[in-house]
Amino acid sequence: MAKYIFVTGGVISSLGKGIATASIAKILESCGFRVSLMKLDPYLNVDPGTMNPYQHGEVYVTYDGAETDLDLGHYERFTHARLGRINNVTTGQIYSSVLTKERKGEYLGKTIQVIPHITNEIKDRIKLVAKESRAEIILMEIGGTVGDIESLPFLEAARQFGLEEGRENVIYIHLTLVPYIKVAGEIKTKPTQHSVGTLREIGIQPDILLCRTEKPLADDVKAKISLFCNLQQNAVIEALDVSSIYEIPLIYKNQGLDKIILDHFRLKPKHTNLKDWQDKVVDKVVYPKHKTTIAVVGKYIELQDAYKSIYEALRHGGIANDCHVEIQKIDSENIELDGPEKSLAGVSGILVPGGFGYRGIEGKIKAIQYARENEIPFFGICLGMQCAAIEFARNAAGLKKANSTEFLKHATEPVISLLEEQRKVKLMGATMRLGEYPCQITKATKAYQAYRRTLICERHRHRYEFNNRYRTLFERKGMIFSGVYPKKNLVEMLEVKAHPWFVGVQFHPEFQSKPDKAHPLFREFIKASMR
Ligand code: GLN
Repeated sequence: MAKYIFVTGGVISSLGKGIATASIAKILESCGFRVSLMKLDPYLNVDPGTMNPYQHGEVYVTYDGAETDLDLGHYERFTHARLGRINNVTTGQIYSSVLTKERKGEYLGKTIQVIPHITNEIKDRIKLVAKESRAEIILMEIGGTVGDIESLPFLEAARQFGLEEGRENVIYIHLTLVPYIKVAGEIKTKPTQHSVGTLREIGIQPDILLCRTEKPLADDVKAKISLFCNLQQNAVIEALDVSSIYEIPLIYKNQGLDKIILDHFRLKPKHTNLKDWQDKVVDKVVYPKHKTTIAVVGKYIELQDAYKSIYEALRHGGIANDCHVEIQKIDSENIELDGPEKSLAGVSGILVPGGFGYRGIEGKIKAIQYARENEIPFFGICLGMQCAAIEFARNAAGLKKANSTEFLKHATEPVISLLEEQRKVKLMGATMRLGEYPCQITKATKAYQAYRRTLICERHRHRYEFNNRYRTLFERKGMIFSGVYPKKNLVEMLEVKAHPWFVGVQFHPEFQSKPDKAHPLFREFIKASMR
């Protein structure tokens, strides 16, 4: 029988609930338990796939092609759990499924209500993950902040879960903020008391508090929180600000969080091993030998979360090369105004990430031309690869009018265009080319040098494709198509032959990179940038 951990957040958002949840899963996994994780999102969208990055940040894609919350990225980076469509539940999905059943008459004439029909549906989704994953411990992160109207049904389902599964099989962890008030020179526990109070009103007594704080929590502060929030003092865990998110599992472990959880569940650790994480991840992040500077040229640069997995994968590439990666976030529209030199002179590598729409495209193309002509290592991902194809067409293959039909519907040289199957698509949600597809790699290429294999599998999220009509011309002009989706002969990877490292990929390698196992392309890109 599985054990369940619900993680809620209090006081304010952006406390790092996703990373906290991933870190708890990590320490439990390091004690020998098989874990799985879920994100329960209170919004009404069926999935975040149709949301603007400014609204939602990155859309994370799972192996089975679900467009999910970026917290699933943290879960997969920190643990070995393989997550898919069923691991991200939204209010939109819950209602959609309940309403479909109602229309089919499955409720046999009953009045459909939030309790029990919506809450039952939520609990069923959790049990489905328990069944499918066969995990011993399942962690459920509830999105939003306690007190929000939207998250109430999820909290109510969490409460019922404890009642039905037995309190000894369910743990409630609450992430809260303990602010330091400068003028008073004091740490304040009141916001935490209020937030726990709100949880207790809905019937949930948290077992563990993770207290985000910028100052260490003195014993008397912990004692006060313990008394007012009705939990043991050792269950008040200090979550101090850290320089790298990868230190967090170690910080929790040092305070015995794994032991508190396992004692509650009456489980004994099978083994405990976080040493590799310490040696091969944290130490490399904290004390790197080398340094490199990578420019990420995109259009959602001011937003921390929009290219989350890209930034993490770059850091992983750094870890694999014992190198600190300084990331310069560059707005491609600035390159349109001022040219590439101003923002790119001095960087050791240029990465153009995925994206949608024409805004900022010409700046990305200029950045790519600058990388190609100055032999600066270049990595283009999804839209970044498509822009690299347009740049090459315009400036190396003589097709001055080259474009993607995404930006110019009736382009005369459509080097990037839609496949027939995509032209018929009418609905926006979940209709892109999504999830894992195999890719055949040609030997003696940068791609093969990285993967050392001829067949790989990578995750996708796009509609447009390289137009095969232009392949021979491109090859004649010095481009190699080093990776292809065999079944449909689609271009998945391209490289400029006479360049130290110029690689574009139609897929999203960043979704499969981990701190202790950098994605081979990120590892090689960083290595090239260090030369
Ligand atoms: N807009 C492009 C397409 O739909 C690229 C998508 C992306 O970069 N994820 O094909």
